Amino acid sequence: MIEIDGSQGEGGGQVLRSALTLSVITGKDMRIINIRANRPKPGLKPQHLKAVDAAAAISKARVEGAALNSTSLTFSPSSIRSGRYKFNIGTAGSTSLVLQTIFLPLSLANSASSIIISGGTHVPWSPCFHYIDLHWMNYLHYMGFNADLSLDQAGFYPRGGGRITAMVRPVQAIKPIQLTNRGKLLRITGISGVANLDLSIAKRQKLQAYNRILELPENIDSSKIRIKTIKMPSRNKGTLLLLLAHFEFSQCCYFALGKLGKPAERVADEAVEYLFEFLETNGAVDTYLADQLLLPACLAEGLSEISTNRLTPHLETNAEIIQAFLPIRIEIQDRNGGAVTIRVINEKTI
Ligand code: ATP
Repeated sequence: MIEIDGSQGEGGGQVLRSALTLSVITGKDMRIINIRANRPKPGLKPQHLKAVDAAAAISKARVEGAALNSTSLTFSPSSIRSGRYKFNIGTAGSTSLVLQTIFLPLSLANSASSIIISGGTHVPWSPCFHYIDLHWMNYLHYMGFNADLSLDQAGFYPRGGGRITAMVRPVQAIKPIQLTNRGKLLRITGISGVANLDLSIAKRQKLQAYNRILELPENIDSSKIRIKTIKMPSRNKGTLLLLLAHFEFSQCCYFALGKLGKPAERVADEAVEYLFEFLETNGAVDTYLADQLLLPACLAEGLSEISTNRLTPHLETNAEIIQAFLPIRIEIQDRNGGAVTIRVINEKTI
């Protein structure tokens, strides 16, 4: 039985989700206490409870203590089962984070799975659908994972009501990843999206992002900026401005979401400023991606290296949880704010 203290490091939902994923993959029982102890309202919220349900469903696990607001639970998985799964979070809790909890185990199953998850698809403090589809999956495909994601309906905070579908097929071989040097900035692409709002709002977001990007000292030519305006099917109103900066050897992704009373220009400014902040460092990928690539990298044989713009408690905590389950060495080299390199050394795949 692996014992995890959910209050360690970041002390949020990611500790629980990573522990669930690793328990299912390794088949090891785990007990987690102090779940989300560092959050203002600790314990299991609907999104976390659904991640537990999903992990249990795909591994026929025996679970004790999984209830709303519970701060500890025991999870005993049996083998991974592919299948057709449907999970409804019931709130605007993040569908991406529930998907990420079960994605790797289902990729290791011996046949394909289809997964439908309802809840929030574009909500603060989590990767939005387009982030995982265009960015996280881009790297997972490179590593050999085989899946397609689709956005059936967008769901925004606070009502949720969105839906994503994932087709996850078995992975043949998992390649390590080398992301240490980004090279030159080549182009910037993006999405300016609205749901149940006039397309003119998406156009304003796009124009503002476009004009701000032209201010970059990198002197990016206007022909190298491509931002698509889209209308997203949804039951509620919302907007998104997502930017992907493509470098010679890597890409980074930032986004901002609209809300009532927040001008379109401010949505664009927010995403652009995250990107500008990143460009001032030497990181190869954004720090969110770094913490989301750590677990897949641990399943690849050999050495993976990921350089990012800053070290976050999410990254450090994820590294600790992984090392509690797997015989893997994770070294983090903090180069004084310039960039941080994470080395994942796996001498033997599990
Ligand atoms: P809580 O903080 O309430 O426990 P949580 O379960 O959402 O919530 P966290 O532990 O904070 O959990 O994990 C959030 C995850 O979402 C992390 O993997 C982080 O990298 C990712 N994330 C947060 N914001 C963004 C963003 N803007 N873009 C991409 N990924 C993000």
